[in-house]
Amino acid sequence: MLLLERTKSSKLIMLESLMRRLAPADSDYSYFKESYQRQVAGFEGEKFVDREWFDMPNLGSHYLFFNYEFENKFGFPHQIDTLLLTTKFLLILEIKNISGQVDIDEDKHQMIITRPDGTLKSYRNPLDQIRRHSQHLILLTQLNVSLPIVGALVFSNPATIIGNVPKNFPIFHSSGLRFFVQKLLKNYPEILQEKRLEKLSGDLLSKLKRQEVKPTINLSRIKKGVLCENCHFQIEMKYQGGLWHCAECGCRNKKSILQAFHDYRVLVSNKITNSEFREFFGIESIDAASKILIRLGIETVGEKRGRHYLIPPDIFTK
Ligand SMILES: [Zn+2]
Repeated sequence: MLLLERTKSSKLIMLESLMRRLAPADSDYSYFKESYQRQVAGFEGEKFVDREWFDMPNLGSHYLFFNYEFENKFGFPHQIDTLLLTTKFLLILEIKNISGQVDIDEDKHQMIITRPDGTLKSYRNPLDQIRRHSQHLILLTQLNVSLPIVGALVFSNPATIIGNVPKNFPIFHSSGLRFFVQKLLKNYPEILQEKRLEKLSGDLLSKLKRQEVKPTINLSRIKKGVLCENCHFQIEMKYQGGLWHCAECGCRNKKSILQAFHDYRVLVSNKITNSEFREFFGIESIDAASKILIRLGIETVGEKRGRHYLIPPDIFTK
């Protein structure tokens, strides 16, 4: 049973907004663009592996969590690509979408990727990451039952060449996932009763904590205002007669403001005052600003000058 659907990570959501609002001439643009492209590739790779689960036979009672995030007892975040809870074991998958060859050196705790153009780059050892997740999951769920935690590193891109990697850790392509899971199901004994399994799945879900990732640049560098989607977010729209108008392509609508609210929430804050709204959205009149904000029908806190409007995560669907 799928308990947690695959969602974009907060980092990817933040980078999507940043790509709309950072000028290509900005000195950090290429850095963030590369990071954005890596996140997109990661997300696509995860979705590719997710498909393996939906026709996997004989899984028995189980709960699946995609992109499970929690905070450990020291307040540090963990993000697990896929978590499978069964009556016999808990499986943690780390999914990598990589083109080129991957070599992992356990003694040096490094992963080296050789790109198709021959360039080499070193990364954090993903096996260390999986072990770290396991240790903190045990503490999080207070697993006093001896449910084994198994980790595996899965490559989503069939073109990845798995080079020199440790023999004692499961590392394989996504097509091997079903065989690996079947082997675990065969080899591990039943430990949890159905009720305990259900309780544990509820405990895990209640400890879900999504990270809030904010950009590491000064916000004075981002484009403000309601940007025109038709014009690839390059043109700031003007508010006229209750509609947003783009002088470049001539389109008019009411909805473009929602995208801007979403970007504000993701890049700046989920709270906005009337004056912050006017400043960011380019509206001069306090009354016009109040009307727009009230019409959105979103929750507020505080009174008069201290009033903040709370931008909900689902502002797009409002
Ligand atoms: Zn336009």
